[in-house]
Amino acid sequence: MPPKKEELALYCKLEQLFAFTDFEEPTPCIRFIGVRDEDFNEQSFTQGSDGVATFVVDVDASTSKAPESTEPSRGQSNPNSDLLQIDWNKFCETPEDCKTCTEASGLWYKITYNIDPRGSSSTYATFGATAGTTQSIQVLAISSLPGPTPAPFRPYTRRPDSALQRTYSLLAFEVGQGMCNLICSDVDGYIFDAGAGTPITKAKYVSGFMRHDLHDQIQRLPEAVEFFLSHGDQDHWRMLAWDDRLINKISIFVVPSGMKSIAFFDVKVKPRVRELSSHLPKWQLAPQTYLSVYRTRPPQKTSNNDGLIAVFERDGEKAILPGDCTYKEMRKDLDPGVSNLPSNVYKAVVVPHHGDKESSYDVPPSQANGIAFFSAGNHPTFNHPRPESEAAHKISGFSNHVNKIPAHIQKIVLL
Ligand SMILES: [Zn+2]
Ligand SMILES: [Zn+2]
Repeated sequence: MPPKKEELALYCKLEQLFAFTDFEEPTPCIRFIGVRDEDFNEQSFTQGSDGVATFVVDVDASTSKAPESTEPSRGQSNPNSDLLQIDWNKFCETPEDCKTCTEASGLWYKITYNIDPRGSSSTYATFGATAGTTQSIQVLAISSLPGPTPAPFRPYTRRPDSALQRTYSLLAFEVGQGMCNLICSDVDGYIFDAGAGTPITKAKYVSGFMRHDLHDQIQRLPEAVEFFLSHGDQDHWRMLAWDDRLINKISIFVVPSGMKSIAFFDVKVKPRVRELSSHLPKWQLAPQTYLSVYRTRPPQKTSNNDGLIAVFERDGEKAILPGDCTYKEMRKDLDPGVSNLPSNVYKAVVVPHHGDKESSYDVPPSQANGIAFFSAGNHPTFNHPRPESEAAHKISGFSNHVNKIPAHIQKIVLL
């Protein structure tokens, strides 16, 4: 008789309900991020801790008896959900836009598994993972349990106003179904989001053959680069997980306060993570050049509307980087600074939420020759951008930039 396989466990938070594996042929999975038994305690998640080793667990959506990831079964209860003790009724079709789903993601789950080369689920280190480090596993059980409450990160203090004669530009990168922007001079820079997605897959990315304008831009900067995360969804930070070179170049990772994902408690980044709990009034990067970063205060928090929004201004021209917070959600925000943002006139917008249907409402007016950058790929489920959003931005006076099938991470100058 073969020896009994060792039973292992990770203590996880639900990261993404309807995810896809990072393999060459992506398959539907439920994504968790967790820690080992010895790190599953309050001490590991204090403000002063140096962080813990975190691991992604991609549970095969079909063998886990979870609902299929495609419509219309999304959100329906599943009578066979015995392995996953998750109340599927709590989740809806678009969990990232839903208050109840966002709250349910805050729970802890114990995932018991064994290593099995034929297993259809997998686990790997959250950061610095390469294809070779992924382990195939067989998931045995998933159950919810009480766990530590992660403490807030240390507060972010912005750099001082500067009157140095530097010229800053705003760049957007074609990253597929993700989002990534950079404001930089010849000396320093600020990255807003570093996510990529189909067709820029992990397999393609780690193979390293693609042109990578973000790297080319930041590696030559002699001073620090700060990173701002619009919100916790992985399509906004996945490149950090794939790429140590990016992580090593960044001095500070600024995240919105109260972020659910425990990824930023990982030992690779935690000592450099800071949080923003209220909006930073506009500060001067250089003469006639300003940056404002808002912390939204949504009346109904969802994964997408609860985060950071940046506005870059140079020589009287403005650009907005809203992440996945739509103009309509900004309008509802309790912070008047945020609710007024769609009333401004913009030279450039990075269209919220990859140009979903909701991003077609309350589109702000464009300045002459304004550009609307749609950051979306060819993901069959999301099908971003939607024609309604492209049409609405056109009506507001923007010329649209859409490339759903980038072969490289190419920069587009927005301002
Ligand atoms: Zn997104
Ligand atoms: Zn999102």
